[in-house]
Amino acid sequence: MKKTLKIQFFLLIMLLLPLLAFGAGNQNVFTRDAGKFNLYFLDLEVSAEATDKSGDSTVLISPDGKVMLLDCGHPESGRQVVDALHALGIEKIDYFVASHPHIDHIGGFPEIAENFPIGKVYRTALEYPTDIYRRFVSAISEKNIPVEMLSEGDAFSFGDQISVEVFNPSLEITYPSNYPDNSTQFVNNTSLALKFSYGESTAWFSGDLYVPQERVLVMKYGEALQSDVAKANHHGGDTSNSLKWIKNLKATVVVAMHDDVSSMTVYNNYKKYGAAYHLTRNDGNVKVSMDEKKNYTVVDEKESWMN
Ligand SMILES: [Zn+2]
Repeated sequence: MKKTLKIQFFLLIMLLLPLLAFGAGNQNVFTRDAGKFNLYFLDLEVSAEATDKSGDSTVLISPDGKVMLLDCGHPESGRQVVDALHALGIEKIDYFVASHPHIDHIGGFPEIAENFPIGKVYRTALEYPTDIYRRFVSAISEKNIPVEMLSEGDAFSFGDQISVEVFNPSLEITYPSNYPDNSTQFVNNTSLALKFSYGESTAWFSGDLYVPQERVLVMKYGEALQSDVAKANHHGGDTSNSLKWIKNLKATVVVAMHDDVSSMTVYNNYKKYGAAYHLTRNDGNVKVSMDEKKNYTVVDEKESWMN
């Protein structure tokens, strides 16, 4: 009898150990698929007192092991981004990319820069006179990180096999009067729009682009924007993700990073036009890995629990 109890206790501990070591359900998400382009969409949190969103942060690892961090969430979420990078065994960030200078996209930067060497920063030329922006800029100069400003028409390589094209913002930025007062939409519309191509496989990120700028890009570039994997604009909100945009993008995997479900219309429209829609609030951290032939694997923490 006693022996049976001991064995049962031992089995229980063995079952619980992975959860204790990695946190609930995380064990399947923060792994690397060798030879693939791996993307990790982070599920961030802020305290109840925070007035802003937890924000966006995506870790991208090229097949040849280069590391890119695209946005880094709210200042309160910086620690979670650091933890996710550690969980992936990352010791150096080759590229940090700031989509636009709002608090929920660059707020965590000082903490990231304290914890990891960063090879280079890509950002837009948009100046944004706020404390959060100043902290971002001074962390970059304190650590002597080279900076490159990106705009429409630029292109760069991410490792040996991935090319990145830039579709937004335009080279000339015309600031509205009284800037930065009431500039939310203007700043969001200057978000970097990036298309990653790995062989035939593609991934799209355009920060918090609003509908008017989505329209500009669809009119100008049409199907050149088409991407299989995409981050939903502006956390999946209906300020963005217009039907025209969704139909033009033709994505099959869409991830929205947000603390809440901001729009059921957006959710339904992406699904209606063929996308598997993942929301970090419901699905936790989401990993997408792709080969160069349009094969995509998605693992989220909801799935990990169910497996
Ligand atoms: Zn945002």
